[in-house]
Amino acid sequence: MSYWNHYYLPATVDEALTRLAHFDGAARVVAGGTDLLLELQQGRRPPVEALVDVTQVPEMTSISEREGWIYVGAGVTHTGIVASPLLIHAATCLVESCGVIGGPQVRNVATIGGNVAHALPAGDGTISLLALDAEAEVAGPSGRSWRPMAALFKGPGQSAVDCTRELIVQFRFRAAAPGEVTAFKRVMRPQGVALPILGMAVWLKSAPSGGETPVVEDVRVAFGPAGPTPLRVVKTEAFLKGRRLNDETLSQAVPLLASEVRLRTSPHRATGEYRGELLGTLLERAVKLAAYRAQTGDIQPEGLGLA
Ligand SMILES: Cc1cc2nc3c(=O)[nH]c(=O)nc-3n(C[C@H](O)[C@H](O)[C@H](O)COP(=O)(O)OP(=O)(O)OC[C@H]3O[C@@H](n4cnc5c(N)ncnc54)[C@H](O)[C@@H]3O)c2cc1C
Repeated sequence: MSYWNHYYLPATVDEALTRLAHFDGAARVVAGGTDLLLELQQGRRPPVEALVDVTQVPEMTSISEREGWIYVGAGVTHTGIVASPLLIHAATCLVESCGVIGGPQVRNVATIGGNVAHALPAGDGTISLLALDAEAEVAGPSGRSWRPMAALFKGPGQSAVDCTRELIVQFRFRAAAPGEVTAFKRVMRPQGVALPILGMAVWLKSAPSGGETPVVEDVRVAFGPAGPTPLRVVKTEAFLKGRRLNDETLSQAVPLLASEVRLRTSPHRATGEYRGELLGTLLERAVKLAAYRAQTGDIQPEGLGLA
């Protein structure tokens, strides 16, 4: 049985859209194929007439900085993200999250666009893009538009991007200004089942603290799986603003965080109760790492390459 009849490698976004339009809903975008091909093989998605592979479109495979924005093509692989000196500095959390996805074979082909378009609440790269307050440029029959990350998800595994007619071209977010740092931490089963038990990304803005624990000027905390879609915990963010990031603040934040999330039991990963037990630990690890970076300027990514 064949899972597709035609396979195309367009060189431009317009060519990709023309291919998709030609099949009128019966073709689908593919990038690394690490999610999609499994779905096709396992019968979780019906065969398609054509696959349109977006990994050879130069616009979708580059990383750049222009006028205070960082641009990351949707077709950039996780390995490409980890290897980018620009992203290590400007988006440490994204490097840390993409650096723990799967193993090297997966990271060498799987893309950040596929991670987002797959729309899983626990997508590691997706969670970091949320904390970075990223936007996605979506191209479709009616042109291109920039959409906030939160507008890309309809439910677990349900993208608001119609991957049979539209595609994500690239992501953009503001380059880190002085005093702004990020961090990502996750808890994973040791045997490395795909997707984490819990993952969290933090973007932190703080004033110079003179060696003291920093006081939060602004913060974004993204988290998953903690609901039907990747999630920003805005009440917890509001609580943290203006406070010193010490143990007392963090322990006070945990009940609020627990009230904002819906932790479910998943058969291969963890119970909801266990996830609940991990909330405080993960918050402490991610926020303390960000605070350390704010204090020291040491943004060396942690944990890369661990399954
Ligand atoms: C062994 C293994 C381990 C894994 N571990 C992790 C993990 O630890 N953490 C994690 O988050 N994920 C994990 N994954 C899931 C997967 O590798 C990632 O989600 C990956 O980023 C998907 O990217 P891809 O390019 O392979 O997507 P594909 O499989 O090519 O596509 C996925 C979906 O997105 C659509 N799509 C792809 N690109 C675009 C685009 N530019 N525009 C619009 N739609 C698009 C496709 O139509 C499809 O519906 C794992 C997978 C495997 C097989």
